[in-house]
Amino acid sequence: MMFKYETHCHTSESSHCGEIPAAETVELLIANGYSGVVYTDHFTSDYFKDTSQFPDWQSAVDYHRRGYLAAKEAAGDRLTVMYGMEIRFCSESDNDYLVFGWDEDVLRKAEGIYNIGIKKFHRFCEEHGMLVFQAHPFRNNMQILKPGTVDGIEVFNGHFNHDSRNDMAQYWATKYGLRRSSGSDAHMYDDYGHGGILTKEPLGGISDLVEVLRSGDYMLVGNGI
Ligand SMILES: [Zn+2]
Ligand SMILES: [Zn+2]
Repeated sequence: MMFKYETHCHTSESSHCGEIPAAETVELLIANGYSGVVYTDHFTSDYFKDTSQFPDWQSAVDYHRRGYLAAKEAAGDRLTVMYGMEIRFCSESDNDYLVFGWDEDVLRKAEGIYNIGIKKFHRFCEEHGMLVFQAHPFRNNMQILKPGTVDGIEVFNGHFNHDSRNDMAQYWATKYGLRRSSGSDAHMYDDYGHGGILTKEPLGGISDLVEVLRSGDYMLVGNGI
């Protein structure tokens, strides 16, 4: 038996483009056979520049955690709900990066982290036992990074509205021996159930997910992989 985990999922509580409330995403994930999920709502300086809504760093963090917290409450013990993010360093590029392994206290002290750029952020992740993967690296307007700049790349992205050129990402990961992830990038109903990873053991939380991604001992869900 394998256990299926969604690694790329948005909520309407914490992503402007997310169309489905967290509690409903939980039901969709369970219905699609997932054992757990990492919520990767968007986290960028552009997102939180409205100072009337976000007067300080803690209010941005609170907003970002809303979807995750609502899902956790709705899920109970039916689904392992994990916190993550999709970060963008707007001053550098339009690239999106999936972050796995945030500790809440670390994030609350990391004011302005979305301004530091991917190289420094990767070092930050190494210092804090986190992993950062480039999301959909071959979509239009993305810049593929020199291999080794991040911990891995998303080789399957299930968002039907974008051409993520997953075949190119898969080829790139094979060529350079990179860690891979697969995720549905779920924003709306049709996105559910396309991506994820399969593990041999159930994951208790985000540190288990980080460990399994490091080990490489998992399989990918997705068409053509
Ligand atoms: Zn989005
Ligand atoms: Zn996304």
